[in-house]
Amino acid sequence: MRRLWASDAPAAAVSGLRGQESDATHGYGYQWTKIRRAFLRANPSCARCGAKAVQVDHKTPRREGGTHAWENLQSLCLKCHQAKSKRERRDGLLASQA
Ligand SMILES: [Zn+2]
Repeated sequence: MRRLWASDAPAAAVSGLRGQESDATHGYGYQWTKIRRAFLRANPSCARCGAKAVQVDHKTPRREGGTHAWENLQSLCLKCHQAKSKRERRDGLLASQA
């Protein structure tokens, strides 16, 4: 059986994923999917407005060293999560320009 050590396929696949905002490309993976589901079941209401939560948010973002520990998680409804993500993205842009 022939082995191809130097294939250009993986590099193409990686560059194709760049810029996508999904759990998979953040490297969350299956473990996170399980944690997220369990956390939402235990905390079904939005931490901010009390609406039905659909997202589990990291209080300290992953890129700032936040973990999947429950102390670092909060349930958010779609509206509150979008508002928070938008603000974090703006803060991130400002930080990278400074
Ligand atoms: Zn909310």
